[in-house]
Amino acid sequence: MQAEIKPLRTIMGRLAQGADLLGALEEQCRLHNITLGEIRAIGAVTKARVGYYQQDIQKSMFLDLNRPMEILTLIGNVSLKDGQPMVHAHVTLSDEEGRAFGGHLAAGAPVFACEFVIQECQSAKVFQRALDEETGLFLWAKG
Ligand code: ZN
Repeated sequence: MQAEIKPLRTIMGRLAQGADLLGALEEQCRLHNITLGEIRAIGAVTKARVGYYQQDIQKSMFLDLNRPMEILTLIGNVSLKDGQPMVHAHVTLSDEEGRAFGGHLAAGAPVFACEFVIQECQSAKVFQRALDEETGLFLWAKG
């Protein structure tokens, strides 16, 4: 599925220290009633949990990075799942030697500091996530 999207409001801000990175971004979307958009952020976390999807067995595995990391890049989107805004984000994180790690952002990354931008969008089509049988992932419904 694809559709033309148009930019609406742009929300820029920082997240509270100690908040869960993924949960706090979703909270910002709920606070501003954003159900479709793009997200980017930079900052640092005190630890992180990132996912990797094993395509052959259709199962996620998680990597726990139990140390302070820089958020070099967080990029993602906001759409609806079960009628609620859901943030899907991927991160590239770095350690004290500049080594990069990354993956699908999971809950379990407490914010040390984070500056974010959320670009709200509008579309004639609803971007609603549903289980996709081919991949086993919750993707935007076809049509
Ligand atoms: Zn992902």
